[in-house]
Amino acid sequence: MAKMYYNQDVNDQALKGQTIAVIGYGSQGHAHAQNLNDSGFKVVVGVRPGKSFDQAKADGLEVATVAEAAQAGDVIMVLVPDERQTQIYEESIKPHLTAGKSLVFAHGFNVHFNQIVPPKDVDVFLVAPKGPGHLVRRTFEAGAGVPALFAVHQDVSGNAKDTALAYAKGVGAARAGILETTFKEETETDLFGEQAVLCGGVTSLVKAGFETLVEAGYQPELAYFECLHELKLIVDLMYEGGMSGMRYSISDTAQWGDFVSGPRIVDADTKARMKDVLTDIQTGKFAKGWLLENQLNRPEFTAIENAEAEHQIEQVGRELRAMMPFVNENKKPKEVAANV
Ligand code: NDP
Ligand code: MG
Ligand code: MG
Repeated sequence: MAKMYYNQDVNDQALKGQTIAVIGYGSQGHAHAQNLNDSGFKVVVGVRPGKSFDQAKADGLEVATVAEAAQAGDVIMVLVPDERQTQIYEESIKPHLTAGKSLVFAHGFNVHFNQIVPPKDVDVFLVAPKGPGHLVRRTFEAGAGVPALFAVHQDVSGNAKDTALAYAKGVGAARAGILETTFKEETETDLFGEQAVLCGGVTSLVKAGFETLVEAGYQPELAYFECLHELKLIVDLMYEGGMSGMRYSISDTAQWGDFVSGPRIVDADTKARMKDVLTDIQTGKFAKGWLLENQLNRPEFTAIENAEAEHQIEQVGRELRAMMPFVNENKKPKEVAANV
């Protein structure tokens, strides 16, 4: 088994006395800043004036502009959206990234795909929680944690690994387990996971199932419960006990259907297309398309987003969930939209 790092494996001294600048106060940013602050580290949040700035202040944190925070920080964690990082880095972080500091990411995208090229005299590493930011905060408050990956891209100080582990422990990840990776492996697997399985694969599977039932004349409300709502209950069982744990709880009829019909839905052709998706990630084709899409102000992203919001499963779902307020109480709006 790969080496996992837990609380007792981490050298707490590695971050001692250092100021951590958390740039961005969104899904990951608010969780890192608050967890590190609660862990006893000196944190300064760097954001532009506006909603995030006000929220970080209201949460009792020290808040500054991105440039001021980058100047104050010995460790600078970049938690603004991937597609905006390069510009923010060039304008407000790089001028203050003096020798000996640490530049940190939660996803390797911009370093791996050559959008951000850090100076040679700083440590560069990533700490990537394997979960949405709001869970990183909520599990921490509950005394638990979300697992994380770490990777060292540049180790000038000789302490980059210890610093990365101390940071990961500070956000609570050492309670769940920390695994070492590389920028390349983290970036490619993260993109593949969200595209083929977690987000893209699941939404396409759910939509196809819903449409199949509705087109066959079954009630859309029933199709929604069957193909979307119940998915969470099944996923919770897999989260707790793997596939066999889930299969233990379902009926034997469901388990037999799982065995004989599942492989007819996701078959060798599906897997071959998964490999195509992975190839596009590995060759940089996906990254190039996404970067260009952003430079053009997202024409295709916007069109698809609008069309998807009007899909029948979304219309039916909005009506049904309005009658089940308990489904998303306690959640901030962003959590519902949090990416992975
Ligand atoms: P968000 O979209 O939640 O970040 C939004 C934050 O960035 C807000 O505070 C926003 O401030 C700020 N921001 C945006 N533009 C600017 C700007 N021009 N200047 C200053 N601040 C700006 O990001 P995520 O937390 O989703 O992602 C951050 C990083 O974490 C990414 O690298 C992502 O890949 C990675 N990651 C994310 C996960 C997640 O759960 N979301 C999981 C694991 C990794 P304002 O309110 O002013 O707009
Ligand atoms: Mg991810
Ligand atoms: Mg991701």
